[in-house]
Amino acid sequence: MDRRNMMKMAGAALALIPVVAFAAKNDAMRTSTKYKDTPDGDKKCSNCAQFVAGKSDKDMGGCKIYPGDTEVSPNGSCIAWSKKA
Ligand code: SF4
Repeated sequence: MDRRNMMKMAGAALALIPVVAFAAKNDAMRTSTKYKDTPDGDKKCSNCAQFVAGKSDKDMGGCKIYPGDTEVSPNGSCIAWSKKA
């Protein structure tokens, strides 16, 4: 295999790495929307239009306005809460 093909193979191998999902938090968005891991009265992520549910009702999920964040609690809340339709 020549050097050029080796570089192509290395590139292909690297491209596969993002397939593995890591738990991640979008700290910038959490801070700007004052996210907390507790409900705000009746307002909580699990009844917010932006929430992306995890595997079960109790699992961490995501939020449509927190790109890349996989650690949003169903019982969390923030100032961007909006009622799920
Ligand atoms: S917008 Fe706020 S309250 Fe709604 S799911 Fe995202 S983090 Fe939770």
